[in-house]
Amino acid sequence: MRAWAVVENGKPLQEIELPTPEPKGTEVLVEVTHCGVCHSDLHIWEGYYDIGGGRKMSLRDRGVVLPLAMGHEIVGRVAKLGPDAKGVKVGDLRIVFPWLGCGTCEKCLAEEDNMCLTPRSLGVYANGGYGTHVIAPHPRHLVDLGALDPAVAATYACSGITVYSAVRKAMPVQAHEAIVVVGAGGLGLNAIAVLHAMQHQNIVVVDVSPEKREAARRAGAHKVVDGSGEGVTQRIIDAAGGPVLAVIDLVNGTQTARYAFDALRKGGRLIQVGLFGGELTLPLPLMAIRALTVQGSYVGNPKELRELVSLAQDGKLPALPVDTISQRLANDALMRLRDGKVTGRLVLRSEAA
Ligand SMILES: [Zn+2]
Ligand SMILES: [Zn+2]
Repeated sequence: MRAWAVVENGKPLQEIELPTPEPKGTEVLVEVTHCGVCHSDLHIWEGYYDIGGGRKMSLRDRGVVLPLAMGHEIVGRVAKLGPDAKGVKVGDLRIVFPWLGCGTCEKCLAEEDNMCLTPRSLGVYANGGYGTHVIAPHPRHLVDLGALDPAVAATYACSGITVYSAVRKAMPVQAHEAIVVVGAGGLGLNAIAVLHAMQHQNIVVVDVSPEKREAARRAGAHKVVDGSGEGVTQRIIDAAGGPVLAVIDLVNGTQTARYAFDALRKGGRLIQVGLFGGELTLPLPLMAIRALTVQGSYVGNPKELRELVSLAQDGKLPALPVDTISQRLANDALMRLRDGKVTGRLVLRSEAA
């Protein structure tokens, strides 16, 4: 198999040859047809996350080994089954759930693979969709996309379930009560679509960019708030008609987390999703007195992926704008994302597509 891999952090991806893995046990070998290029690929490529105060968390220390074919928004065709793999056949087109764990602990067996303490995520800790083939450990990690556009369906594996899982954590909120979404990029527009699909009627979106606020409005945000400068908390409270029960922070930087937290009402929840980086100082007595929750949300689980795909198959989710580019140009795609030249989602399309 071939892969367009990170060989050295921060350096151009290199085309390399790797042995094609042989599926064992319940494993399924999948030939990649599509793979989304995600923002977190940029962090993996750079090799670190900014964790605030000028400190960095090295991904190498976290077990990321190079060379690595990144890519975790994968759609592909079943190419070969391990002897114990049941329920799929060669040629089936499937979304590959990438947020894998050890496969044997309680969390993994409960289909909360993304909560496993031994992550083996595709495109992070194992080769992913920037290569021609990937291994799914079990057929339950493969989701039938039906008649959905595979380039769009690929994005459900990360940006899709990330948003879906965060929205579920923000609930319950009555349909008429405000839910605040911080960030109107790809994830933000996704969140608006998911909230609409769930019949939510009061979506407040915060962004610093007037163009993105306008895009949010077109996508169905009921109110938009300028996230730049001073007074953002007050503007959120004004737009929402009072302090809010739930904020989903898709940026999650020092500034956004601050104004989002400060906008919470009693019993409020701040769901932190973004990986922008920075830190948040919490007033501890207020956490108790106002019964606040600050909860991180990382991707989602296979159940959530299936629920999201079924929402999309019911026609309740508008397709995200996607642009496809040859898998061979994976490095160009990554650089376009780094340079902020991507609107919607860029998806690699392989020769097998
Ligand atoms: Zn991602
Ligand atoms: Zn596990």
